[in-house]
Amino acid sequence: MVKSPVFLRFFLYGARIYSLYSNRGLLLLFSLSVDKSAMMADARPEFVQVAIPSGVPAPLIYRVPERFQESLQIGMRVLVPLGTRKVTGVVSAFAQHSTLPRIREILDMMDDHPILDASLLELCRWISKYYISPLGEALATVLPPTLRLESQRMVTARDGSFALKGKLEREIVALLQSRKRILLKSLGNQLSGRGINRALSRLVSIGAVEIEDKIKTDRRRAGRKEPAAEAEETVPGRKQLKLTADQGAALQSMEESLAMGGFATFLLYGVTGSGKTEVYLRAIERVSKQNKRSLILVPEISLTPQLKDRLLNRFPGQVGMLHSALTSAERYTQWWRIARGEVNVVLGARSAIFAPIPDLGLIIVDEEHDTSYKQEEGLRYNARDLAVVRGKLLSCPVLLGSATPSIESYHNCQLKRYQRLDLRSRVEEQSLPHVEIVDLRQDLMEQPAAPAGSSGGGIFFSRQLIKALQENHKLGHQSLIFLNRRGFANFLQCKLCGFVLRCPQCSISLTYHRNEQSVFCHHCGFRKPFSDLCPSCDNSTLAGVGFGTEKLEEELLRFIPEAKIGRMDRDTTSKRGAHERLFRQWEKGEIEILVGTQMIAKGHDVAGVTLVGVISADLSLNLPDFRAAERTFQILLQVAGRAGRGANPGRVIVQTYLPDHYSFQFAATHDYESFFASEIEFRRDLGYPPFGRLVQLRLDGLKAKDVEQKARSMGASLRRYITNRDKGAEQIEILGPAPAPIEKLRNRYRWQILLKGKKGPPLLDLAKAAQGLCPQGNVRLHIDVDPYNML
Ligand code: ADP
Ligand code: ZN
Repeated sequence: MVKSPVFLRFFLYGARIYSLYSNRGLLLLFSLSVDKSAMMADARPEFVQVAIPSGVPAPLIYRVPERFQESLQIGMRVLVPLGTRKVTGVVSAFAQHSTLPRIREILDMMDDHPILDASLLELCRWISKYYISPLGEALATVLPPTLRLESQRMVTARDGSFALKGKLEREIVALLQSRKRILLKSLGNQLSGRGINRALSRLVSIGAVEIEDKIKTDRRRAGRKEPAAEAEETVPGRKQLKLTADQGAALQSMEESLAMGGFATFLLYGVTGSGKTEVYLRAIERVSKQNKRSLILVPEISLTPQLKDRLLNRFPGQVGMLHSALTSAERYTQWWRIARGEVNVVLGARSAIFAPIPDLGLIIVDEEHDTSYKQEEGLRYNARDLAVVRGKLLSCPVLLGSATPSIESYHNCQLKRYQRLDLRSRVEEQSLPHVEIVDLRQDLMEQPAAPAGSSGGGIFFSRQLIKALQENHKLGHQSLIFLNRRGFANFLQCKLCGFVLRCPQCSISLTYHRNEQSVFCHHCGFRKPFSDLCPSCDNSTLAGVGFGTEKLEEELLRFIPEAKIGRMDRDTTSKRGAHERLFRQWEKGEIEILVGTQMIAKGHDVAGVTLVGVISADLSLNLPDFRAAERTFQILLQVAGRAGRGANPGRVIVQTYLPDHYSFQFAATHDYESFFASEIEFRRDLGYPPFGRLVQLRLDGLKAKDVEQKARSMGASLRRYITNRDKGAEQIEILGPAPAPIEKLRNRYRWQILLKGKKGPPLLDLAKAAQGLCPQGNVRLHIDVDPYNML
């Protein structure tokens, strides 16, 4: 395949990209000027800009030694000196001259071919501007760590006798003599906090030790053959399907874009079981006829084994995979396979949006509404949004798919920015499951004496649900029980003094897991053995309050003792391959009732499932988040969609204390449009996305007082900043500073300031101003553009 000239066009024209989404969705105006003469084929660059994957704010200029001038290209990795270190950088632009007085030289070229093509570099620049992050950090997000070598400082002892002063110096020398040489970092760890830097520099000055930079000799070149990926499992073939009319129409609407290329965004809106996956597969086939490759993103690969099967089956030997369950060696192998163009389709989770795919002709985002596309640490990007940006940069079509589209995407269809493609009914016309809403208040009133979990039903299962489960089991059908909370008891409380056991590192109560006889923090992973001894009053009176999936599993057995019950949540799937094993048992009917968290709501297509029970549907509704209703509606429809996919009709029972809420009312009738109509009015009234933009500024630090002070002074400065500025300012609202809903996480205290406004650029300016107010210190600032996590 030939490299598409489209990549180059952006450089030649000094890419100007205007308003990818106009001013209501993502918005960014930026222009990039690159030395155009440098792009000529025979240009020999004397200087280059090198972006360094780390916090270095901007690319640095380096001189190119004669010997590299002919072969060096933009997008190649080079080894460069940085301070006292040697680091990997990526050539981001050529420059013919420089006025800087002292310019250091490139030490080595690490690739024979560019490993990042122009469009990926361009994407890095876009990310850097839009998410207010140094270009180097964007690069670090795009390039896997194994592709970034760094020198490490090694300390060695020299022969000879030296006059050593003090215990520390003697310890250092003794340690070095026993080991020959040692990493400066590990020396630091072994003798931490004892002024070793001073001691070391004295030792260097008297010649007793030497410190040098070493870099691993294993140079990983782009052309080098990597061991072939392990043989792919072969998957029993399914026969070629005849498309439904809606599927055919959807593909027809995309035909021109798939065949000719060009940027366009499609939203494939189809109820669960309507055959969206088949449309993806055909679209991939279509672009591969044009010798173009495809990228398909899914929220989590391990949760969608069926999609993986279908891809492997349709494109044997041609599928590359990138996801978090790979070891770094596997990831490295996959990355090069993909970069060398050895696969035609790449299936991946969030970070696969950066896969270095040559001749990429189609980007698919399955379950586009899913919040796991949002990266919540480090550079907080949204892979779904970046898919659209990458499509635009590459001039290729983007296909988003969902049964419950995000409010933003559906809104974009109404504004005609995206083209909607509808799959209106289930394949083979199965009806959508019948949804019943059970008012838990009513159920409790009718059986006031029923203690928790008694055979009367109590608070876990309404009588209606128990009856339905028993009947369904008798018929030999499968049932699914959904509760988005794992563990046995929600938290432990003292029956005498009321003390609640909390995580020592977070402002969160600890959850009791009975199988493990431990209490866990679901936010930081802290764990300790269970004891019923109350730390506050010293009585053995700590008792569980509330319930999770583990408790449900046990309760179920009391009603249906003969049922084969399984549980699928993070506790039962943490081991490698555990999820897939559980899923296969479920698929084969070896599990009759499956209890689980939202893991069970995704992508499962099991024909035997005819009943779905939703235990506490209100859990997600009560979160302090403007997307709470949207998430609740989405998860309900997703989980309901697991029922009735086979020959028998499905039934869904939703238990709630808020039966009148519109999320439940419209979920009961599978009425996305009406839900959207209500929700969009709420968003419009309050100026939330898609009618306004948000940037969350989060400050955290080890001392509560420092964080609060910094947050307050930053809030005041930002308010002054907007009142001093002219028009546009009145459209910005600054909410807070206030403590985050989770005030303390992993020992760090957290405050936040929410910036809200009609347009993006002034908000980004304000966030940049905030960045200037928060130099490195004991309080850190995290900027979250288009935030999803409001906790
Ligand atoms: P979705 O992704 O919309 O939930 P799927 O693509 O999983 O739906 O399709 C649901 C089921 O219907 C799958 O078992 C799939 O193999 C089957 N299917 C899809 N398209 C067709 C078709 N045109 N004819 C017959 N069966 C189909
Ligand atoms: Zn914790």
